Amino acid sequence: MSTTADIAIIGGGVAGLSLAAALGGRASVVVLETEPDLFLHTSSRSAQQMQPTYGPAPVRRLTAASIPMVEAIAQRLGRPIFTSRPLLWAHGSPERAVFDELLATVPGLEEIGADEAVRLLPALRRDALVDAAIDRSAVEVDVPALLADYRERALAAGVQILPRRRLERAERVGGAWRLTAGGEQVEAGTVVDAAGAWADQVGGLLGAREHGLVPKRRTVAVARSTTRPVEPGWPMAADVADRWYFRPRGDVLLACALEDEPSAPEDAKPRPEVIATAIERVNAVTDLALGEPEDGWTGLRTIAPDGLPVVGRDREVPGLYWLAGQAGFGIQTSAALAAVVAADLLGEDHGLDGLDGVLAAVGPERASLAG
Ligand SMILES: Cc1cc2nc3c(=O)[nH]c(=O)nc-3n(C[C@H](O)[C@H](O)[C@H](O)COP(=O)(O)OP(=O)(O)OC[C@H]3O[C@@H](n4cnc5c(N)ncnc54)[C@H](O)[C@@H]3O)c2cc1C
Repeated sequence: MSTTADIAIIGGGVAGLSLAAALGGRASVVVLETEPDLFLHTSSRSAQQMQPTYGPAPVRRLTAASIPMVEAIAQRLGRPIFTSRPLLWAHGSPERAVFDELLATVPGLEEIGADEAVRLLPALRRDALVDAAIDRSAVEVDVPALLADYRERALAAGVQILPRRRLERAERVGGAWRLTAGGEQVEAGTVVDAAGAWADQVGGLLGAREHGLVPKRRTVAVARSTTRPVEPGWPMAADVADRWYFRPRGDVLLACALEDEPSAPEDAKPRPEVIATAIERVNAVTDLALGEPEDGWTGLRTIAPDGLPVVGRDREVPGLYWLAGQAGFGIQTSAALAAVVAADLLGEDHGLDGLDGVLAAVGPERASLAG
């Protein structure tokens, strides 16, 4: 089989499909995905949060711009896509440096003190807290609905989505790409590398230098309290020292111990000892006495050496565009990042407030990625 397109996107996750939806109708686009279906890897394994005060500054700007865009999707669908889920930062040690830095560097965080934190989230142990801050603008997002909307919009705009097509070979022929993927030949002017944990590997196939993108394991556990009902309206709580976070998931709890273990790109599976650590750490700071895990999953967060996404034209390889390194914020940045990237690819103005210069901060040519 043979296909021709202006733009070939490698990867059928949130990055690839949000971009396909944003480009649809303005260029001919094909999405190549290894798996038999979309969204089988990290995109379906998140904690489903959009938190405007989480992540480095360019990420926070992209998240703030994405929230109204995702809200517009809800209005189009005629049903809610967000649940208000304030993010409560818990500070539990006498050493205040990290907490004070968080308050000083992240606009939108409000210091509320330990008593107020326990009032808002009564399962927290007062003696485990020294101080607390809150981001009241954070939301939980219905990720399956968001992903389905990206896919439907892309299809409606004529994007070809080709599952079971793993990019295996790429050559430059006459100023364009000739790609071989699962028996398919694809000719395309530009290739976008949105391959998640495989992004550096795919870049290598296209002749690019690696950017040091490392997939890192992150596991969440789901468990039931043995002492008191979990209130679905509780905020999410996160340890300032990055040892744990948790939030309600209906009447059970989603808990995480924030492991960051490097991994090969693969279909990551949870390990019982990591699930147990998540439950232990949450039990140490709450009165929930979580019992045996009922569920759990692991995904790979792919992270550049400076923690920023890697987005933009490759420095050396013509016709290669990176959309990678979204670490723990690929869902919350997807709508605005896709709009900005689509405009950049098409040579247009993105027209979004607050995002001027954002691509320069995350471009593959930035000094903090040099090497
Ligand atoms: C536990 C956990 C919690 C998280 N919580 C949040 C959160 O609350 N909020 C948030 O914003 N983010 C969160 N994230 C991060 C977010 O899930 C990721 O940033 C995002 O899903 C990355 O999307 P992606 O499209 O880049 O990758 P993926 O979803 O992994 O998609 C990449 C795709 O590329 C395909 N591919 C690879 N190589 C090839 C090839 N050669 N040819 C064709 N296809 C190929 C793969 O099969 C895969 O489907 C979390 C992540 C984890 C693990």
